[in-house]
Amino acid sequence: MKVLSGGFQGISRCMAHLRSGGILAIPTETVYGLAAIATQPEAVSKIFAAKERPSFDPLIVHIPQGWGFLKKLDELGITDSSVLGLEARTSAEKLMRRFWPGPLTLVLPRGAKIPDLVTSGLSTVGIRMPRHTLAQDLLKHLQEPLAAPSANRFGRISPTSSSAVIAELGDRVPIVLEGGPCEVGLESTIVHIAPDGSARLLRPGGLAREKIEAELGRALLAPEARQLSTAELAPGMLASHYAPRKRLVLFSRHTLDPSHLAVASRGVMWLSPPPDSRMPGVVLSESGSLEEMARVLFATLRKLDNEPAISEIWAEAPSSDQGLGAAIHDRLRRASAPKALEPSQG
Ligand code: AMP
Ligand code: MG
Repeated sequence: MKVLSGGFQGISRCMAHLRSGGILAIPTETVYGLAAIATQPEAVSKIFAAKERPSFDPLIVHIPQGWGFLKKLDELGITDSSVLGLEARTSAEKLMRRFWPGPLTLVLPRGAKIPDLVTSGLSTVGIRMPRHTLAQDLLKHLQEPLAAPSANRFGRISPTSSSAVIAELGDRVPIVLEGGPCEVGLESTIVHIAPDGSARLLRPGGLAREKIEAELGRALLAPEARQLSTAELAPGMLASHYAPRKRLVLFSRHTLDPSHLAVASRGVMWLSPPPDSRMPGVVLSESGSLEEMARVLFATLRKLDNEPAISEIWAEAPSSDQGLGAAIHDRLRRASAPKALEPSQG
């Protein structure tokens, strides 16, 4: 895999490669993505092959700045907002104005230019405007939508640096655009806007649900309780996802028996400093900042997973699901789940 830096030359090469039907890894503020031009089904199929991703799992479409309006997205055939009622339109545009570019994916009625492969045949499409400068440089010059899931093999930990992309995909992908460590470090928050105007949280992520609710002036609905068909499952809803190879055990600092941590082959990960400074383990944020925990979570899991002296990872679960705590908890729960492709309970 070739590492290209941004700037005129790097961006031009990436554009030529994408236009000729190629795939490449790009930095975003959430995690690194594996991108193809969304309107080219053959290019998109290479993403599924490289990731070994099942075709029932839809991709998020990334758009340049300036496209954050339903009218524009409709004109480009990315959405078809004609089926949305007034409240749905108002809610969608409110969220676009307030949170784009940024770690929010909106699931909206799909337009005619988006191939089945991108949405797994669903009638909706997930859309996001990333705020990483290089992702935006590329999108701005390309003026094409990019389909991009996280640049890792399916089910594994998402990459938050170019070296993690190389470790995950190696020679399956010809190019990675070097954009430094990801600023947010967790995948986007996904919200579905239904034609009747209801807004549902499909996956907690890098944008806290409280901020979205404050902007809308109402609570987001919970992920569907009804039984979803396989085609409707977001990967974030698969029980095992974002997972290290080693067994991961979640613990709470309030109920922990400290002797459990004293086993040398256990790699311990604290979200904030342990109650007793003599307790072993790495600490994600000395100050207890959820943003900092999110930023380093995947890189730390990856490091522990690659540490030969460690056979099992013990990770602290957040004590609250407020703010980014919900997404951190969600990722850790799925990282600790048995590795079978079964729908989770919620
Ligand atoms: P990844 O970035 O690899 O986690 O994958 C993109 C995420 O967006 C997946 O969780 C998809 O399920 C989700 N997604 C994309 N499009 C849709 C859609 N139309 N409906 C529901 N979820 C979607
Ligand atoms: Mg992923």
